Amino acid sequence: MTSMDRRAFVAGALLASGLPWRAGGEKAEAGAPQAGKAGPAFYRFRLGDYELTALYDGIWHRPIDGRFVRNAPFAEVQKALAENFLSVDRLSLPITALVVNTGVRLILIDTGSAGQLAATAGSMMSNLVAAGIDPKAIDTILVSHFHPDHINGIKTKDGRMVFPDAEIKVPAPEWTYWMDEVTPTTVPEAARGVLLNAGRIFADLRKEVTQFAPGSEVAPGITSIAAYGHTPGHVAYAVASGDSSMMVLCDTTNHPWLFVRHPDWQPIFDMDGPLAAAFRRRMLDRVAADRMLVQGYHFPFPAIGHIAKSASGYEFVPVQWQPAL
Ligand SMILES: [Zn+2]
Repeated sequence: MTSMDRRAFVAGALLASGLPWRAGGEKAEAGAPQAGKAGPAFYRFRLGDYELTALYDGIWHRPIDGRFVRNAPFAEVQKALAENFLSVDRLSLPITALVVNTGVRLILIDTGSAGQLAATAGSMMSNLVAAGIDPKAIDTILVSHFHPDHINGIKTKDGRMVFPDAEIKVPAPEWTYWMDEVTPTTVPEAARGVLLNAGRIFADLRKEVTQFAPGSEVAPGITSIAAYGHTPGHVAYAVASGDSSMMVLCDTTNHPWLFVRHPDWQPIFDMDGPLAAAFRRRMLDRVAADRMLVQGYHFPFPAIGHIAKSASGYEFVPVQWQPAL
C-alpha cells in the first residue's frame, strides 16, 4: 500500500465510522503546545528483596552491509529486519544499563556510552538522576567487557571519574587481554579503537580496578558467568534474591530480533564468532529452560523479559510494564 493509498484507506474507514476527518493534515486549531522532548526513561522493578532500575542510554543507528553477519547472506539478515519492522540498511541498537539496589549495596552493571558513540545515545546519567540515584551513592560498578558502549560512562570526556566512590570490578581475562596482552600493533585491526579506548579509561586505574575470575560471586547475590567470544573475557551476571533470579545477559546476545531468533548468526561485533555463538546457545538454553527473567543490554527498553524456545532458535518475550513495585 502506498502512502496515498494508506491515507485514502484511513479516510474511508473514518468516513464509514462517522468520525470526523479533515483532509490535508492541517494543524488542529487551539491545540496545546507540544513538549518537543521525551520524558525520563527509567524502569523500576523488584527481584526478591532487591530493587532494580533499568536506565535507558539511547539508541545507536549503525549502518550495516553484507559484512555485518559473517555467516548469513545479507538478504536473509535484511529479511529478518524487515519482518520485525526495522530498517534494512542500518541496525538501531538500544542501550540500557542496570542498577541493583540490594538494600545495602548500590551496584551499576555497565556504564553506558557517555554520549561518545552517537548523538542519539548518552542519556544514562540524566535518567540516573531522574530515577533519584546520586552517582556518588554507587558503590560498585560491574563491567561485562571493554567495548566503549559499556565502559565509557566510567569517565567524562576530560577524564574525571563519574562515580567517585565506586569500586570497579572487571573480568580478569578481559583485563589481561586488553591491558596486558595485545598492543596497537598486535590487536586485530577492527579492535584497535576498542583497545585505545580501553587504555583511555583504565590505564591510570590499574591499582584501583579489581579483577575477578568469571564464575565467582562479585557482589551480594550477583555471580559472574563466563560468556566468552563477544570479547575474550566477556561475562554475564546472574542476580538472585530469595526465590527470584535474573540473568543479565550483557552482550551475550546482541539485538534480539536478529540474534535471539538466529543464535548461530555471528555479527562482526563478536570477536570470536563460533565461540560467542556456542556460549549464546548455552545461555539461551539455560534461561529458557529455567524460565528465568533476562535483561539484555541491547534489547528494546526496558530490555527485560523472558526467552522462549522456538523451532529454530528462541524468542524474546518482553515484560509488561509494572506500574507499582
Ligand atoms: Zn554492547
